[in-house]
Amino acid sequence: MEAEIIAVGTELLLGDILNTNAQFLARQLADLGITVLHQHVVGDNATRLEELVRAAKARSELLVFSGGLGPTADDLTKETVARCYRDTLRFDQEEMDKITAFFAKSGRTTPANNEKQAMVPVRGKKLPNRNGTAPGAWFEDEGRYAVLLPGPPHELIPLWKEQVLPLLQPLCSGVLHSLTLKVTGPGESHLEERVGHLFQSANPTAAIYAKTTECHIRITARAATPAGAEEMCRAKAQEFYDILGDCVYGEDDATLESVTVAALQQAGLSLTTAESCTGGLVARRVTDVPGASEVFGFGFVTYANEAKQQLLGVPGEVLKRHGALSPQTAAWMAAGARRVSGAGLSLALTGLAGPGGGTPEKPVGLVYLAAACRDTIFIRKLGLGGRSRETVRLRAAQNALDLARRLALGLPLPDDTQTVAAARLAEEMR
Ligand code: ATP
Ligand code: MG
Repeated sequence: MEAEIIAVGTELLLGDILNTNAQFLARQLADLGITVLHQHVVGDNATRLEELVRAAKARSELLVFSGGLGPTADDLTKETVARCYRDTLRFDQEEMDKITAFFAKSGRTTPANNEKQAMVPVRGKKLPNRNGTAPGAWFEDEGRYAVLLPGPPHELIPLWKEQVLPLLQPLCSGVLHSLTLKVTGPGESHLEERVGHLFQSANPTAAIYAKTTECHIRITARAATPAGAEEMCRAKAQEFYDILGDCVYGEDDATLESVTVAALQQAGLSLTTAESCTGGLVARRVTDVPGASEVFGFGFVTYANEAKQQLLGVPGEVLKRHGALSPQTAAWMAAGARRVSGAGLSLALTGLAGPGGGTPEKPVGLVYLAAACRDTIFIRKLGLGGRSRETVRLRAAQNALDLARRLALGLPLPDDTQTVAAARLAEEMR
């Protein structure tokens, strides 16, 4: 089934309020396996609304409206949609009594224009609203459906769940199952290149969602039984795993930090952090995970050079010769954090988040990431330029967590990873 969402309201057009109803409805329709072809916003204007409804009705089996059911004179949605679906409205005493009772409860008389809210479809259905005065409406015209919902989200959401879902479910055949693969490492365009061909199929469907630091691949299958749909998702997921391998760090509710903490626990490795440019973001994400205390005791935020020297023992001459933004400093930070804390694995980050301070040799977005684990120090140079300060920091933290995950699970490290024997740090990183 194909659908369109039509949000009605001049407030929306002017940008006075954010169209959160469209977001809610789009997700709900996707969960039902209904394809949303368009989302529209239209002001309180009968002519433009009617034009839009006629065009959308010709294209799509289902139109979902939000807003415009209020008592105000410019609320024309219900009459207009009724006309387009060859229906008419009638006065409903039961709804009117509810409206009167609503006003009486707060000691008010019912304004005359509220009678408009008691108008309900003759051929279609009224959708009683237990959180407000305006009932929703359902119209049907030869296999074309329209659902009208009140604008306020605290009315729209329960009405949708309690009354619209039961009407829509029988129209959508079979059951749906979804599975989300969480991918870190390759960016969206790089992913498209490698697995783009897997997004072509209609059932299961697969779609990619680029987040700030990672990508999600959502797979949805429709089948006669839940087990059948699940099996189809699993088979499709396997096609992605075959290509992306360990870049898929988890599924569904897994987060990179939760997977990393679990991996550290399994490997019997404790963790410490030494953060400069990320200012504690890595520690924050690790401690977001319930039970993180089993692997994480404390971390360092060493922003100033003096802090790197005093707390982590980075030699002053290393800082002087190479600067804080250098592979040498990152390596010494990692080694120092590990020595001072006694943790099995340390992560260190030093970088330039910007927006100012970049030079041709050391541009904004240059970040050095180091980890000390067992008898080796691992160093990566990350080029995260061309992004906001916040994004540089978030991506730096993401790379650090992924390095920890890979070390804990014994997975291959990115090709650009440089290694130095811990015992040779003083010779090689001077
Ligand atoms: P009312 O009976 O309250 O007038 P209504 O169905 O006529 O309801 P609108 O007048 O369009 O709806 O909007 C009422 C309120 O609902 C808005 O002020 C806003 O707070 C909220 N609202 C409306 N549309 C949306 C939307 N698309 N997304 C989020 N909130 C919305
Ligand atoms: Mg209104």
